[in-house]
Amino acid sequence: MEKAITRFAPSPTGYIHIGNVRSAIYPYLLAKQTGGTFILRIEDTDRARFVEGATDLIKETLLWLGLNWDEGPDIGGPHAPYFQTERKESYIAWAKKLIEKGLAYADPTPSEKIDEYRKADTAKKIPYLYRNHRPEETVEWQEGIPIRFKTTPKSYEWTDEVMGDMKSGPEVLDDIILIKKDGLPTYNFAHIIDDLEMGVTHVIRGQEYLSSMPNYLALYEALEIPRPKFVSLPHILAPQGNKKLSKRDGAKSVTDYKSDGVLPEAMLNYLACLGWNDGTEQEIYTMEELLEKFSLERIQNSGARFDETKLLWVNGMWIRKIHDEEGNDTLYAKIAPEFWPESANNYPEDYRKKVLNIIYDRLKLLSDLKTYTNYFFEEPVVDREMITKNKFLKKMSEDEIKGLLNTVSTRLSGEEDWSADNLQNVLNELLEETGKKPAELFSLIRIAISFAPFSPALPLTLETLGKDRVLARLNML
Ligand code: GLU
Repeated sequence: MEKAITRFAPSPTGYIHIGNVRSAIYPYLLAKQTGGTFILRIEDTDRARFVEGATDLIKETLLWLGLNWDEGPDIGGPHAPYFQTERKESYIAWAKKLIEKGLAYADPTPSEKIDEYRKADTAKKIPYLYRNHRPEETVEWQEGIPIRFKTTPKSYEWTDEVMGDMKSGPEVLDDIILIKKDGLPTYNFAHIIDDLEMGVTHVIRGQEYLSSMPNYLALYEALEIPRPKFVSLPHILAPQGNKKLSKRDGAKSVTDYKSDGVLPEAMLNYLACLGWNDGTEQEIYTMEELLEKFSLERIQNSGARFDETKLLWVNGMWIRKIHDEEGNDTLYAKIAPEFWPESANNYPEDYRKKVLNIIYDRLKLLSDLKTYTNYFFEEPVVDREMITKNKFLKKMSEDEIKGLLNTVSTRLSGEEDWSADNLQNVLNELLEETGKKPAELFSLIRIAISFAPFSPALPLTLETLGKDRVLARLNML
């Protein structure tokens, strides 16, 4: 297979959208599986949208997901620098070449005048195209004057690896800006120059750039440079329907999911499968499996719906996978202290590991630990309604409940062997002794020792809490 040179080219605007990250995963996979190069390039020429610290956030997110770049910020590479603002000279040099060839021009038209053109065309109900307003007199270029492409309206044909054979008519071609007033290039121009100079073979990006493709193709032609392969990724759609996912749909940024306790393995897995599948029913993929199975041909060409419930399901599957395949200690090591209830800090690591070992299979997010495990670390707040509203317990009188708890506590206090196995037997014997159904007796004990909406299997919960605490709690009601 031809070595693919791919890039992830984010703009440092601060918010890391789910779709942005997916546009990093596919180029990474393609580069790695072909023994090629994955480049990280920071597209920071839009100074109005620039956010301080955003580049660090991008880098951290990529490293968190295991998408290490081969060339780019911090590590450099043969095509350095990797920040567009540091590559200014190059864009200007290429734009000047176009001016010399008569294919671009310095445009001194003031912005008020441009606004007038736009308004006039809109009033006349004709499409606003700058090429109809090209200035008659050309000026010498100097910094502070934008450079525009001098387009030749014509039709184009091209192939997109995902979208298939594409065609466009002359109506979309325009005199787009190449170099802005501030001397920095537009995205439209800069990415073409960078992709060329960095030897990029596959441009993998969101489908929102498709509509600009004719202008890009005109630029490749004018610059007399080869076209790379184009791979347009389908939109990620909002959960409810056929519109692009946006912040307003409640989709959190990748960083928010990270702080809620989505594991990087799960995020990578979920996003890789959002718009791609290997043709089987498989849903859980490790990075190694993705590297083995990923192919551009199987990227779907219609939008993929973002489904947070599915993301959490994948995360739950990953929590179990890590626990069951690599062990409780490995899972424990992946859980940052802030995911635990604060009171857990007062307990030794071994005890927290024990708690994790019995609760892990209930977790969808690591932050669930905060709400699911606090009664292992602090005294629960008595909430009588949990008893009086419980469908199995509401029929019992206060006295009956006290009596039952008393029987349980007396029996348990005599137990020397506090292992879950023994406790299981004792609980079964208590069922016989009290004549209660498991749903009644076990719900009561569970509530009395936890006051939590659910807990792991009762014998395991009792064993982990320890005899003293269990007896104290049973006697509290
Ligand atoms: N800077 C563009 C963005 O963040 C990148 C598009 C591309 O990959 O070429 O959307």
